[in-house]
Amino acid sequence: MLDLEFAQASDRGRVRESNEDYLGCVLPEVPEQRAHGWLFALADGVGGQARGEVASRTAVETLLAGFRRAARGERLRSLLPRLVQAANEKVFETGLAGKSRGAAMATTLVACALRFDRVVVSHVGDSRCYSIRHGQATALTRDHTVVGEQARLGLISAREAAEAETRHILTRSLGNAMFVGVETSDHLVLSGDVLLLCSDGLHGAVPAADMADIVTRNTDLNAAARELIDAANERDGNDNVSVQLIRIKSVERVGMYRGRPYKLA
Ligand code: MG
Repeated sequence: MLDLEFAQASDRGRVRESNEDYLGCVLPEVPEQRAHGWLFALADGVGGQARGEVASRTAVETLLAGFRRAARGERLRSLLPRLVQAANEKVFETGLAGKSRGAAMATTLVACALRFDRVVVSHVGDSRCYSIRHGQATALTRDHTVVGEQARLGLISAREAAEAETRHILTRSLGNAMFVGVETSDHLVLSGDVLLLCSDGLHGAVPAADMADIVTRNTDLNAAARELIDAANERDGNDNVSVQLIRIKSVERVGMYRGRPYKLA
């Protein structure tokens, strides 16, 4: 049976007056609910006059509510992007309803849902999901930023992208339009893997290799989350910084037949 442990931390950083990042999760309360799966989500809101806070909270809460209501057994690969799309619509409508000139709002969103032995990751914007296995971090998301797209096209190097002045300019975010391009992928997880979701306040300040080190060195996940936040604040601190850590304790191996799971002996 899939089992995991989880920790999260969020901090407004050393400069910002408020925290526009928002985190949430759906954890099964009893073992029978595990077949429905786990959900983790992290959003980094943008917008003046506290609109960023509204955007990130609205996105995450809409996503969590949709997951709780979803039909048992619906495939996560189709469910998660559909729920992110619904969250986009909600942020967009909330933005329209409260519109005073110049107070547009938007947010990034990265979410991962786990069931059996797989994780499905959906995202919009530059909040990231990494998989840490055997001390090595692998990004499971690609930033939806101008420099991210340029690096993908081979126009600039990954290093140039990481150092560019314009690295924070998003090409996609939730809340700008009625529809948004949600990027989704799914991956096998192994016992011992740690999934790390974070806002750019963390990945912009702490290199992936250092994040992997901190996570691998700390057996206590809460201590790891705290150390990651401290590392970001020590090295930068100009942005809100948030992290969710999910350590896989055991997985349930299943086979798939015509889109339905069946137990492997
Ligand atoms: Mg940020």
